[in-house]
Amino acid sequence: MLKVNENFMKLPPSYLFVDIANKVDQFSKQHPEVEIIRMGIGDVTRPLPKAVVTAMQKAAEEMGNMETFRGYGPEAGYEFLRSAIAENDYQKRGVAIDKDEIFVSDGAKSDTGSIGDIFDVDNVVAVCDPVYPVYVDTNVMAGRAGEYREGAGWSKIVYMPCSRENGFLPRIPNERADIIYLCFPNNPSGVGIGRKELQKWVDYALRNQSILLYDAAYEAFITDEDMPHSIFEIEGAEKCAIEFRSFSKTAGFTGTRCAFTVIPKELIFNGVSLNKLWGRRQSTKMNGVSYVVQRGAEAVYSEEGKREVRENIEYYLNNAKIIKEGLQKAGFEAYGGVNSPYVWMKAPNGLSSWEFFDLLLEKTGVVGTPGSGFGISGEGFFRLTAFNTRENTEKAIERITQSFQA
Ligand code: PLP
Repeated sequence: MLKVNENFMKLPPSYLFVDIANKVDQFSKQHPEVEIIRMGIGDVTRPLPKAVVTAMQKAAEEMGNMETFRGYGPEAGYEFLRSAIAENDYQKRGVAIDKDEIFVSDGAKSDTGSIGDIFDVDNVVAVCDPVYPVYVDTNVMAGRAGEYREGAGWSKIVYMPCSRENGFLPRIPNERADIIYLCFPNNPSGVGIGRKELQKWVDYALRNQSILLYDAAYEAFITDEDMPHSIFEIEGAEKCAIEFRSFSKTAGFTGTRCAFTVIPKELIFNGVSLNKLWGRRQSTKMNGVSYVVQRGAEAVYSEEGKREVRENIEYYLNNAKIIKEGLQKAGFEAYGGVNSPYVWMKAPNGLSSWEFFDLLLEKTGVVGTPGSGFGISGEGFFRLTAFNTRENTEKAIERITQSFQA
């Protein structure tokens, strides 16, 4: 009889956001008069920049003409986009990344979720706790996580707690880790990492011949001068790191889908080039991203595109400021929200994350994400996102202030 991949059976039955949606649905049915304000899921609300839309319209026209129609494109992305990325995101910032080191894809979720394909199942994985769940769940699927122990997590995964005590920055683990996932600015805590701190990770990886999987999906939100926009700004990183970037939060592409992964050619382990391995994996399992979407992504780097993107990011950062300052004024502990669209708050009065979720929904109609959904160390915390409209953000904070202020 057919055998299924038993690793999938180890996964918890439903995804965090499904549980939240079910709870909100139930609440709405019981209280149809309450206007719900969603500040839970990390999805954008501002429309695509005009420069992107115009470029996509033009590309769609080309696809409708015999002379300019295009079929399958290069699996790793069209040269026009790979060059625009290399030039604007790296070379202009003094980082020597070449277009051949860039792999265009449909999302950082797919890439961070699939990168494990090129690594052996026996590697030890380290993740921050709390963490973007994709890193953990995909390693469970691959058989790299061991067994789940209630209250202690997966037996073979090394957890690096990120708490108030360490400023939500992970400490170098005592045990050996081969594959280390880092995400800065961080989801869910909203904190960024400085150059000096990141250098420690690069040095650790070089010493141990480990790989850093650096998720920079929120790079565009960095406002702090001391924070690197890319791990490749750090000396030696080209020998020990892979970087993931996305147009999702940067330019409103969550529904349009485009991202890229940077794998330097210097990444050689045991004589094997990771750039070549990933190229082989991608060309076997995917046929690239649509031409229309790649033209849209290219337009993000046009003068008009850059200006529009900046406006959108500033809009969200202003929301984050409203949330963080509003919460702090109301007496809550709140973190992040300066280099990130996420504000990480402490649930008051020793409430658990889910208890606070229920209370907040009941009292204010505001939906956030329970921190415990991101890992054991997320318990007692709660994530609010800045992706709603300014009006709704202000309304939400006003309701929270009125309901909770002493
Ligand atoms: N990485 C992190 C840390 C995220 O929070 C998200 C989305 O919320 C993603 C990756 C997914 O990005 P994409 O839309 O490019 O798949």
